[in-house]
Amino acid sequence: MKKIAIVGGGVAGLSAAIYALRSGAEVTLFEQFGLGGLVATIDKIENFPSYSFVEGWKLASDMSAQAKALGLKTVRQRVVSLQKGQNEFHVVTDKGEYEFPAVVVATGTSHNKLGIEGEFVGHGVSYCATCDGAFFRNLPVAVVGGGRVAVSEASYLSEICGKVYVITSQEELTGDQKAVETLLAHSNVEPLYNTTVSQIMGDGEVAAIEVFGNGKKTRLDVAALFVATGAVPVTDFINVEGVAKSRGYLVVDGRCETSVKGLFAAGDVTDGSLKQIVTACSDGAKAGSFAAAYSATVK
Ligand SMILES: Cc1cc2nc3c(=O)[nH]c(=O)nc-3n(C[C@H](O)[C@H](O)[C@H](O)COP(=O)(O)OP(=O)(O)OC[C@H]3O[C@@H](n4cnc5c(N)ncnc54)[C@H](O)[C@@H]3O)c2cc1C
Repeated sequence: MKKIAIVGGGVAGLSAAIYALRSGAEVTLFEQFGLGGLVATIDKIENFPSYSFVEGWKLASDMSAQAKALGLKTVRQRVVSLQKGQNEFHVVTDKGEYEFPAVVVATGTSHNKLGIEGEFVGHGVSYCATCDGAFFRNLPVAVVGGGRVAVSEASYLSEICGKVYVITSQEELTGDQKAVETLLAHSNVEPLYNTTVSQIMGDGEVAAIEVFGNGKKTRLDVAALFVATGAVPVTDFINVEGVAKSRGYLVVDGRCETSVKGLFAAGDVTDGSLKQIVTACSDGAKAGSFAAAYSATVK
């Protein structure tokens, strides 16, 4: 009997589920929150093939519905430990323990912190523009970060906030150049290059930030600071010996199998991937198919 576990219900995990289910496997997906992962929080997606434009929640809910219709079993629990036995893996959650011959890890990444957020998290400091941007309608805000995610966050905010400072320690904004050009064309967007955020000020709520750039400190009166300074892969729960990593990301082969037999990985948690929806889905398709096939060989 083909039987696999998937840890993480973002687009990588859901794609793995769809492919494994269609191959006849019994699939149990462990997800700590709702299905859809990061995609469910993205405002506009303009680079997923077939759609010139699709809202994140729509893509996430269509994909979840597709997997559920195929018979996906979801367990809404956080996996706290993944261990290897003789021929099986033990998936330990905050509520129980389960055994599977093969496992797909699709846990994505978690946000980097600036280290100066302190008590302002949830009081003007946010890691998700789509989730919190509307609280700052018509107000001045800042985004710190200079990559693809920062550009996407700033772009979303530029449509609802009065002013958007984009603060980056780099000399330019990087990532999708078309998206950078579109962002900078907004008259309420002001990029601050070679600049860092040194302090957050306010009495219980963010009122201003202090930035340091070009040899001087400047105070910017903003109601919110959106932090988009990169992310780290979520692998801390994996207690399996011999799992190869590169910069913390899981190293996988062309079948999305890790260095441990029967342990597969897909999406943003893996090394070398483009960290986009289309690549997460592609990884998931491979991981789900090969994990299901592997599980049938385990005695
Ligand atoms: C602001 C922003 C905008 C973006 N815009 C685009 C875009 O326009 N186009 C594009 O292609 N890509 C975009 N991306 C990137 C894209 O969202 C990711 O590449 C993709 O969502 C990765 O999917 P994933 O399934 O690997 O991980 P995730 O979506 O992060 O899913 C991981 C899941 O695992 C769960 N999980 C983690 N740990 C555990 C645990 N221990 N137990 C149980 N569950 C766990 C999490 O809750 C989460 O649901 C954007 C990203 C951001 C942040």
